[in-house]
Amino acid sequence: MTTKTISKKAFKEFVNAVIAAGKVVGVQAKGERFDFADLTSADDLRLDYDVTLQAPKKYFLPPCETLMTFDVGGGYQSHIADEPFVLLGVHPYDVVAIAQMDELFSQDNADVHYLKRRANATIVALDVVTASKNVFASSMKTATTRTGFDILLTDIGNAYVMEIATEKGRKLAAKATATVASADDLAKRENIWKANEKGLNKHALAVNPEYLGKLLDKAYDHPVWEEKAATCFSCGSCNLVCPTCYCFNVQDSVNWDLKTGRRGRAWDGCLLDGFAKVAGDHDFRKNRADRFRHRLYRKAKYVPAKIGGQIACVGCGRCVGACLPDIANPVAVYNRLVDDLGIG
Ligand code: SF4
Ligand code: SF4
Repeated sequence: MTTKTISKKAFKEFVNAVIAAGKVVGVQAKGERFDFADLTSADDLRLDYDVTLQAPKKYFLPPCETLMTFDVGGGYQSHIADEPFVLLGVHPYDVVAIAQMDELFSQDNADVHYLKRRANATIVALDVVTASKNVFASSMKTATTRTGFDILLTDIGNAYVMEIATEKGRKLAAKATATVASADDLAKRENIWKANEKGLNKHALAVNPEYLGKLLDKAYDHPVWEEKAATCFSCGSCNLVCPTCYCFNVQDSVNWDLKTGRRGRAWDGCLLDGFAKVAGDHDFRKNRADRFRHRLYRKAKYVPAKIGGQIACVGCGRCVGACLPDIANPVAVYNRLVDDLGIG
């Protein structure tokens, strides 16, 4: 681990040098909002962004992809993306979400498509400069992170502190004109970490997130599921914007020659009608309230059981902004359960 300081002018030159060397994805303005997109100039990079419309998961698990093509009688061909890229400006809560996905996609039958993209990525993380209006990363303990990145940037005013954490990060940082970070720069970074650990909290969770699993043990038949789901459109937006939602549907399509075709996968979402439909037309979560409940159980109970207790909500707040009837906020639901069921 090496910690350097780079002036903002030198940082721009660094970014342009990285762009000249290969594919770079960075946060850019999209109207009044922000999103990750291919970066062609350091001038377009917006490291002061609040939150991106989409989570960076789309670079590891694309919304649609071809897994393989096949030819009846002629075998099949796997399609595995193999392009190195730099992902620039990932906020700590999204870094934590990516680390959770790494763990999940490595379990059981390791997902070679995800893992290959992940191995090709160099992640340059960025401490939050501007809090978004719905962020609650402080409540979820994801407002800062010390792991999961190759380089971490912290904006200290006239410069960035660069923490170089891996060999990939070291190779990338070799293009930068930076000096060893001074004690003063490190103290400024420490203050930013302290401020973010408290201040990225527009919705305050009433309990320690580790307690949520126990809370849900008592909440399966609580009326909140029916009450909230009464206005749910089953649009799936809360799933699609979420950095920790990773469900997908796999479908084969055969071409007109009836000999060749493709196997593709596309994002799916547990709030969508038909998500849990299986053979025989049996749908084991046909009711909207069941699907609404499943999402909140998945975040704080089912996924944590697979990844050592980590809560699969990192507090990015995207679902809060994406939900038209304003029912998707996990904090609102969990706090209601705390009020009604207590923490004992
Ligand atoms: S549940 Fe909502 S706030 Fe939590 S990680 Fe997903 S989109 Fe972000
Ligand atoms: S975004 Fe809101 S309305 Fe749409 S499925 Fe999610 S909870 Fe329901």
